[in-house]
Amino acid sequence: MIVVMQPGHTRAERDSVARHIEEAGLRTNIMEGVERTVIGVIGDSHTKEILRESLETLPGVENVVRILQPYKLVNREFHGGKDSIVWVRDVAIGGSRVVVMAGPCTVETRAQTMQTARAVKSAGAQILRGGAFKPRTSPYSFQGLEEDGLKILAEARAETGMPLVTEAMDSHQLELVLEYADMIQIGARNMQNYPLLREAGRSGRPVLLKRGPSATIEELLLAAEYIMAEDNPNVVLCERGIRTFENYTRYTLDITAVPVLKSLSHLPVIVDPCHGPGKSRLVIPMARAGVAAGADGLLVEVHPEPDHALCDGPHLLTLDAFATLMQDLDGIALAVGRRV
Ligand code: PEP
Ligand code: MN
Repeated sequence: MIVVMQPGHTRAERDSVARHIEEAGLRTNIMEGVERTVIGVIGDSHTKEILRESLETLPGVENVVRILQPYKLVNREFHGGKDSIVWVRDVAIGGSRVVVMAGPCTVETRAQTMQTARAVKSAGAQILRGGAFKPRTSPYSFQGLEEDGLKILAEARAETGMPLVTEAMDSHQLELVLEYADMIQIGARNMQNYPLLREAGRSGRPVLLKRGPSATIEELLLAAEYIMAEDNPNVVLCERGIRTFENYTRYTLDITAVPVLKSLSHLPVIVDPCHGPGKSRLVIPMARAGVAAGADGLLVEVHPEPDHALCDGPHLLTLDAFATLMQDLDGIALAVGRRV
């Protein structure tokens, strides 16, 4: 439920509305917009229903609106209809610039990571990605360099100045990731790992939440709600492909999810054009499509020698291909009123 305040209401009126709500045992979330201020009401539905009528009669209140969707804090209506911006150190995700996060799928060696980080930085990437803990389908595949990988990533961050995003799959890994990274990646397979979502929420650190391969849009939004319910508003949603009957590609990249998520939620939405298509020649067209559809950013995997990669070789972009993609994006971003 949200309480929409009248234009020109006083501070005292707003405080009295908030007090009224809190005295009933509910929580408030005040959002001051340019045009109007709304007060989000969080808590038990029955109590909210009882409170509804009395709230409508308080001075300064324009109206009280029920939010019918099960997700509240991530709901666009709950945020006064405006986009939120998530800051990862000095990089704003969700503003006028399309933010490209790029780097190795997996940290394999120091040399491979440093070379990739320098190349993506000079091509225009703003955030460095890279995996030290890898969710692999087979337990016999390379699982990542763990803390040694995080140290290499931190070195690449120090040299290039790009903030770092990296994945944690459980709470022990999360503790380590928090020592090194600026943003926590919750991978597709863990989108519904609720204790992990809560912990990432409690950390207060920005979270990149990837859509589960079989998750609906509503399930993704409810997963984001777990993080926000821990008072962490810094969530970025990522479409990365879902399981369908199509088997030419690994997953079907659901580009439609971008405008749908942007209409339902105020959170920034980015696209991973790599893991769905699963083939490098399809990554560039899908990256372009993501930006054209209104994504706030991209997450791209790059490798100096994809043929020799330890993970995801078939879809990795070479350093040159990545630089070409970055040039292509300028025109596309411009066409949809953004810049890269
Ligand atoms: C990744 O981005 O490194 C990754 C493992 O992707 P996903 O969780 O989408 O499979
Ligand atoms: Mn990968």
